[in-house]
Amino acid sequence: NSQLHSTIEEISHEFAIAGDFVEGHEINSGHINTTYLATYRRESGEIRRYILQRINEQVFKDPLAVMHNVECVTRHINWKVLRVKRDLGGQTLNLYPARGGRFYARGEGGGIWRCYNFIEGCQTYDIVENTRQAYQAARAFGSFQDLVEDIPAEDIIETIPDFHHTPKRYARLMEVVENDPMGRRAGVEKEIAFVRERAELCATLVDLLKEGKLPARITHNDTKLNNVMMDAETDEAVCVIDLDTVMPGLSLYDFGDLVRTATSPAAEDETDLSKVEMRMPMFEALAEGYLDGCDCLTPLEIEHLVTGGKVITLETGIRFLTDYLEGDVYFKTHYGEHNLDRCRTQLRLVECIEQNEPEMRDFVKRVSRAIN
Ligand code: ADP
Ligand code: MG
Ligand code: MG
Repeated sequence: NSQLHSTIEEISHEFAIAGDFVEGHEINSGHINTTYLATYRRESGEIRRYILQRINEQVFKDPLAVMHNVECVTRHINWKVLRVKRDLGGQTLNLYPARGGRFYARGEGGGIWRCYNFIEGCQTYDIVENTRQAYQAARAFGSFQDLVEDIPAEDIIETIPDFHHTPKRYARLMEVVENDPMGRRAGVEKEIAFVRERAELCATLVDLLKEGKLPARITHNDTKLNNVMMDAETDEAVCVIDLDTVMPGLSLYDFGDLVRTATSPAAEDETDLSKVEMRMPMFEALAEGYLDGCDCLTPLEIEHLVTGGKVITLETGIRFLTDYLEGDVYFKTHYGEHNLDRCRTQLRLVECIEQNEPEMRDFVKRVSRAIN
């Protein structure tokens, strides 16, 4: 513990923080980066807290490109808050400078570290407990989409190429099915057939982008509930965090991932598939929140919000199935069929979305009419 304490102190000294280091500890709610909280006392006696984060280089092969994007987005949002005077509840994410005017420092062993202001008075939730949280999270990500809408596309680096290129994910699955390196194919013919029947769906959104009908945007790409800081007293969304995956993409994948992760009460690896369901009130809260937060969506984007949920859920199922067939090389697994169980919840949710689709589309239509 005192070892951890001095590690945090040492790395925090790389950044332009005023005052004396008081204490540090680890924050375990994220699953990608190493995140520490450092407390400082200023000369005035005032206590200030900071987030120190080491970028996971297993996931992000080019951490400096990630930093470039994070710098661009945080600066742009702060510019916009001043320039357009958008009220974001008072707190935004800011990077602290390090040596040489950079916004990152190299730690022992060469890791890339950065330092943010700690967003005070907030908490994050891992699992959506109610429609109010769903609404708040969706509104926050919708508002984020508006904030980054006018970042020139060429300023943002595609740090994970083809991240949400669903047809390529599909093609990759078919390749692995063909080769069947682990001899697991025979047990998953049903899942393969399910995906095959939806080959066209995989291409829907990417094709509309190619044809210029859907706008290329800068998107967040990790629109999970625990990436929204919520006011601890009012539960209102204050600030979107976790900007590592900000990349060029489609707004519909951001909204879709909210649908994928928040509408079903079942865990991602639930084996009792009867527990997977589309909770319409959750979906409605997400749609309302996203549309309330985001003014920049085009009519075609609004029309395809439900498609976004369906496509990214199918894509995630495809990725789990691919990894299962390849022998679990990408996702961490805790038992032999873990990826297969995960795949099955996703495919089941695709079915649930399909069954509720008319109702879902209808709701989106009604809300967007009411807002405009
Ligand atoms: P990961 O990619 O590992 O999920 P995050 O950036 O989401 O990394 O950080 C992990 C957790 O640390 C968050 O869920 C949140 O609880 C906390 N956290 C991150 N940044 C801040 C911040 N600026 N202020 C307060 N808490 C933060
Ligand atoms: Mg996170
Ligand atoms: Mg992250």
